Parts: sequence; structure tokens; C-alpha cells
Amino acid sequence: MANDRSKSLFEKAKQFIPGGVNSPVRAFRAVGGNPLFMKSAKGAYLYDEDGNTYIDLINSWGPMILGHAHPSVEEAVKAALVGSPSFGAPTAREVEMAELICSIMPSVEKVRMVNSGTEATMSAIRVARGYTGRDKIIKMEGCYHGHGDSFLIAAGSGALTFGTPDSPGVTKGTAKDTLIAPFNSLDAVDKLITENKNEIAAIILEPVVGNMGCVPPQPGYLQGLRSLCDKHSIVLIFDEVMTGFRLAPGGAQELYGVKPDLSTMGKIIGGGLPVGAYGGRKEIMDYISPAGPIYQAGTLSGNPLAMAAGMAMLKHLQANPGIYQHINQITTKLVDGLRRQIAAAGLKYTINQVGSMFTLFFTETVVTDFDTAKTSDTQKFAAYFQSMLAQGIYMAPSQYEAMFISNAISNDEVNAILKASEEALRHTRN
Ligand code: PMP
Repeated sequence: MANDRSKSLFEKAKQFIPGGVNSPVRAFRAVGGNPLFMKSAKGAYLYDEDGNTYIDLINSWGPMILGHAHPSVEEAVKAALVGSPSFGAPTAREVEMAELICSIMPSVEKVRMVNSGTEATMSAIRVARGYTGRDKIIKMEGCYHGHGDSFLIAAGSGALTFGTPDSPGVTKGTAKDTLIAPFNSLDAVDKLITENKNEIAAIILEPVVGNMGCVPPQPGYLQGLRSLCDKHSIVLIFDEVMTGFRLAPGGAQELYGVKPDLSTMGKIIGGGLPVGAYGGRKEIMDYISPAGPIYQAGTLSGNPLAMAAGMAMLKHLQANPGIYQHINQITTKLVDGLRRQIAAAGLKYTINQVGSMFTLFFTETVVTDFDTAKTSDTQKFAAYFQSMLAQGIYMAPSQYEAMFISNAISNDEVNAILKASEEALRHTRN
């Protein structure tokens, strides 16, 4: 496929934007080649600056559950544009949005809107620290919670892709308060709690990890964390930026029946516009200013356009619960097809799937945590990725990411993806 225009845009971008992109994983560094510059999208399809068409398996890294340019979201944004795009004063939409989120997320009694997932997680741990009067947090290796200083320690996603899970610029003082445990190990968490008695404010994790590739919690893991937090008065935070409103309306906490004390939400509740939120038990949330002493603020928080887009999407999901059935079933169909292809070719790979999230890992090791995810052959992934891309399938450009299926994907797209994959697997033979 020709990509001259993307190439020249990237060259120009590198002169004015660090690395030519506004978020690292977009740079295609892990898979080679230059990133594609997108022009528009509709439903399941992306259209780039060179006029190529792709089936989208990223969906803006999660939020486009309904597919791109869904009419209900587009109309809501257009309607919200009549008036000012920002007031810096409360609006009725924010109240409606807060009520909607509280009615959908099982553990959320009060919620504060922010502008990104990063802001949501940074604010949530500040609240946990202020509420408990303790400094340390436990984070799981390979989980990504945005680029707040406390989280860039053994971080997943782009940090892992670029081999910088511990970023320069994070002070030793901050890093020492983030304790790390392998995902899926209750023993490791128990040990850290014992070694740091009465010092742990919060345990934060992605209840289903997306950021080292898709890694589900093992049976009893989330329940075990809940019990440990109860026993030691630790705030349990589920980062549902990717899983909320996707794995079930009420996210992973609904799917697995475990209630965290605080939840962080992100891009999904903006329907594609920049939004984040954190919420949870009233007793904790009322520590936030101006109800309480913990400061957190935002000029554009609760922005009318973002609220309108997010609300339109959440309401559409609420009114059409069959969407969850569709995205889960169509993902299973795709994953089953991939498994059949791989078995028929006598290859050994691992696929993890939870609902409409999945990752094909280029390893035969069962992937349950960061160490097992890292056994993947990233060169094989790159070869597979490039072949898929050349055939019009747009996957996340790193082994350590999940793919997200939208409601716009139908049997036709699944068949096209499988056809391309058959060819791509020939390029990744053992
Ligand atoms: N938490 C999780 C689980 C995420 O996946 C992400 C981003 N992918 C974030 C937090 C950060 O969100 P944002 O990029 O909107 O700051």
C-alpha cells in the first residue's frame, strides 16, 4: 500500500513534535516502518491520508465501542456545540453524567470528572493517601495507569514497549513509595503488606490487564485482594480505564463480582473525547475538595462537549444491552478462528481473551503476568503486524497491548481478518 503522504507527514512531524507523535506507541517503533496518519473513520473502518482503508482493531485504544463516528455520539456533540464549548461553571450535563455513572458502576456512589485516565489515577491515589494518612501504594508489574510519576515504575504499555518501564525524571523519593508485585500473585501482595505494616494506602491494578497484552485475573485473585484490603484497611482501586463499560456495563467489577473502594475511568466515558473520572465510596470521595481537604481541580473538567459525547455513548449502550453480547461473541468467533489456524499450522502461540479484549502472544508460555508476557517473541509479532497492516488490518503496534473489538465489526470483517491472518502467520513460522 502506498503511504507517501503518511511518510512525509511523519518527517515533518519529527521536526516539531518529539518523536513525531503525541503519544509514544503511535510511532510504530516496536514494529518498524512509519506510522499511518489517519484522516477519517466510519464504523469498523479507518481511512488514512494516502486513501488506504483498514479494519480497526484498536478503536482509539478502547473507547469506540460503537465503532467510529456513531450517529448518536456525533449528533450529541453537534447539539452541545450550540452554546459555548466551556463555561468554567457547573452544568446540568455534569449532574446527569455523574448520576448515570453511579447507576452503572456497581461500587461508585460519587464521582469526579477529570480530563484523562492519567489524571483519574493520579487523583485516586492522592485521595487514598489523604484518606488513610499513609504514603505507600502497591502496583502490579506490567500494569499501566497513565504517566503519573508514581505509576512509571514497572509500567506496561508504551513504557514496556520502549524498554523504559521505570522512567527517568521520576524522583527516588516518589519511586520508593510505589511497591511492586507480580500480577496474579496474592502471596507477593501479602508479603509486601506484612513488610510495610500500616504503611500501605492503596492497592491499584487493572482488574483485567490490557497494558502488557490482555491478561485476565486468575480465579480468586480479585476476591483475595479485596479480603487483604479489608483486613488491613487499604483502599482497593480498580483502574477500569479500559475495562469499564466494555467487559460489562459495570466493567470488570460487575463481571467478577468484586467491589473496589475506588474506580478510575477514562477515554470510554468520553466516547472519543478527552475525559477521565474517578469515583467510589461516598465516605472516601467526600474527602475531596470542596467537600473535604484533599485538593484536586480542573478548568475543563466536565467539559460540555465531552459530557455530551460520553453520555450519548453510555446511554446508547444502556438502551442496547445486546451490544455486549455481539462484541463478546464476535471476538470469540475471531479468537476461535485464530486458534484453529494456529493449530492447523502446527504453531504454538497463546491467545488471552476476556469479552471484547484479546491479545495473540507470540509465545507458547501461558501468559499470566509480566514475566510470562515478556517471553513473547516481539520480532515475530512485528512480522505478523506488518503483514496484517499490508493487508488492511490495523492492529495495536506492539505485542504488549490488547486489541479492542467494536460493535461495528461483523462476520464480514472477521472473515477478512482471518484471511489476512492466515497469510500473516506464514511470515511468523517458528
Ligand atoms: N489506565 C489504564 C488502564 C490505561 O489503559 C490508560 C491509557 N491507555 C491510562 C490509565 C491512562 O489514560 P490516558 O492515556 O487517558 O491518560
